[in-house]
Amino acid sequence: MLIDTHAHLASQQLCDDLPAVIKRADEAGVTRIISIGTDLEDSQQNIKIAEQFDQVYATVGIHPTSVHEITEDDWLQQIRTWLEHPKVLAIGEIGLDYFHPPRDGSSPTAWQELQKKFFIAQLDLAAELQLPVVIHQRDKNGESECRDDLLKVISDYQGRVQAVFHCFIGTLQQAQPFLDQGHLVSFTGIATFSSAKELQSCTAQIPQGQFMVETDAPYLSPTPFRGKRCEPAYTRHTAEHIAAARGISLEQLASFTSQTAEKFFALPEI
Ligand SMILES: [Zn+2]
Repeated sequence: MLIDTHAHLASQQLCDDLPAVIKRADEAGVTRIISIGTDLEDSQQNIKIAEQFDQVYATVGIHPTSVHEITEDDWLQQIRTWLEHPKVLAIGEIGLDYFHPPRDGSSPTAWQELQKKFFIAQLDLAAELQLPVVIHQRDKNGESECRDDLLKVISDYQGRVQAVFHCFIGTLQQAQPFLDQGHLVSFTGIATFSSAKELQSCTAQIPQGQFMVETDAPYLSPTPFRGKRCEPAYTRHTAEHIAAARGISLEQLASFTSQTAEKFFALPEI
């Protein structure tokens, strides 16, 4: 019924416990999980997990805060090869992160340029292979430079690449320029936090077909598990919260968000 469109099943905090994690997801009605890659090793791990579990699919890509670790000249070729795997559905997560200080000891400008280089190379590959992308974007608190830069970069791909802006935490007005270009957003457990009033008005108003639900497990547990390890089963709590805000049933929300995810990731309908 529900699809967790963004979890990190290869993460240390989940990977030792996967059969139980996936069973609990199933029991909660979270029948499919997209496990998201963040670097070369993690992407490969995700493919192995997708091979092991029918209900798990994978994405592969280099996260903006991992770009400095990539020393292999053929990193993009490796990603290209993995994208031929039948259970690899998208490139991600990729994007820009101006929140964390430069991880390679360089200047903020050089660090942002390095991130853009990796982002653009992966967007070019997505355009060439006609695959969707999963985007990470994070500004310093109270700033919008990262979002503005991201909009500039992604605008060059309008009509050629469709993206989901994962863990969206802004207002509907802030989402609008991306939605207008045909992209989607997805919501995590942050949407259940009582402090997230602006985000909740976004989740209540955004038209169906333009958003999906996710956990970002093992991070960002929804209420009532806030602060604890997150797992895909909790997609249900976030979905229930959003359904209540929209005045519809969980089943209705599950039905159209799953259709949106099936279309975006070209998942087989079940
Ligand atoms: Zn993530």
